[in-house]
Amino acid sequence: MEKKIAVIRGDGIGPEIVGEALRVLDAVASLYGHTFIYEDVDMGGIAIDKWGDPLPEAMLQKCLGADSVLLGAVGGEKWNSVPGEKRPEKGLLRLRAGMGVYSNNRPARIWPQLASASPLRASIVEKGIDFIIVRELIGGIYFGEHKTETAGEEACAVDVLRYTESEIERIGRIGFETARKRRGQLCSVEKSNVLDSSRLWKKVLHRLAPEYPDVTLTDMLVDNCAMQIVKNPAQFDVIVTENMFGDILSDEASMITGSIGMIPSSSLGKGSRGLYEPIHGSAPDIAGTDTANPIGTILSAAMMLRYSFDLPAEADCIENAVSAVLDEGWRTTDIMPGGDEASRCKKAGCSQMGGLIAGHLKKG
Ligand code: NAD
Repeated sequence: MEKKIAVIRGDGIGPEIVGEALRVLDAVASLYGHTFIYEDVDMGGIAIDKWGDPLPEAMLQKCLGADSVLLGAVGGEKWNSVPGEKRPEKGLLRLRAGMGVYSNNRPARIWPQLASASPLRASIVEKGIDFIIVRELIGGIYFGEHKTETAGEEACAVDVLRYTESEIERIGRIGFETARKRRGQLCSVEKSNVLDSSRLWKKVLHRLAPEYPDVTLTDMLVDNCAMQIVKNPAQFDVIVTENMFGDILSDEASMITGSIGMIPSSSLGKGSRGLYEPIHGSAPDIAGTDTANPIGTILSAAMMLRYSFDLPAEADCIENAVSAVLDEGWRTTDIMPGGDEASRCKKAGCSQMGGLIAGHLKKG
């Protein structure tokens, strides 16, 4: 298989962590006989410095011409005083809009080797945490009408929550497709006891269900879901939900897994092309020190293979290599335990961690 990948290294630790992800992708490519062609794209602070724009049109076009996009992170102190439209983060928003990615997928997975980093009780963590939240990204209340009116002495604020059937259907399908590539369990999360938009959500999800006989669809109210994520996270495989509920639940889910440096994400739209990035930022405080954890970016590359290129065995291989390196006790600073556990672990820098994971793949 030959695939073109647009590579956005970005700012801060971005170039370091992306470099390690490419090393791992190269190892997978040689193991399975694939060719990955990388095309560098400037976005964020580096693009402001070079081109005076966080995402020049030519750079967006490079992304649109690729089979998928791998991103490190953008932003930093240096560009904080740049006017709003020229901020590094604007490049990211323009990229998401330009690529039409309406589905943000964020896995919540606890690695057994890092179980002690979870704030949950050991008896809950032991049952396993491995689910994905599929969040609608460009609709709902964040994109509805917002206004504040003053009638008499009192102000009144209004935010409109609107969903069309087709918006729900397209994100619902991503939920079903994601579930069928995993354990086949899809939980649709809404507030249908109160909201019309949620009742429509539920109706559309159930209309789609017969098209996916290999997936079991269940419903859950969002308040119950927030509770179940901390009470019994092992019950979830894939959660599909609207924009604001997904925003809140995905932050809750990332917290229970331990470290921000471990978590990948994907954003998908129509077709197979996706945007893959770790959930953290450019971490300027540790940039250039070779201490960043590259695993979130490496796992984002694995998601790209699984969800955009339909290469599940290759994605499994990367995840298994990460697990093997953790089993051997290797830890970047952010996941280094304290106390007695520390004596069983070995500290690795960013490039060493990438090299260890790629090394496992080379061994096959
Ligand atoms: P951050 O995620 O960059 O850092 C938060 C903390 O986590 C820092 O202490 C950092 O050192 C640590 N950290 C983050 N990633 C790590 C990793 N891979 N390994 C080890 N430690 C890691 O968040 P922030 O400090 O609020 O933001 C820094 C910059 O990143 C800002 O300019 C912000 O706008 C930008 N940002 C970009 C994105 C993106 O590109 N998608 C997302 C969030 C923030």
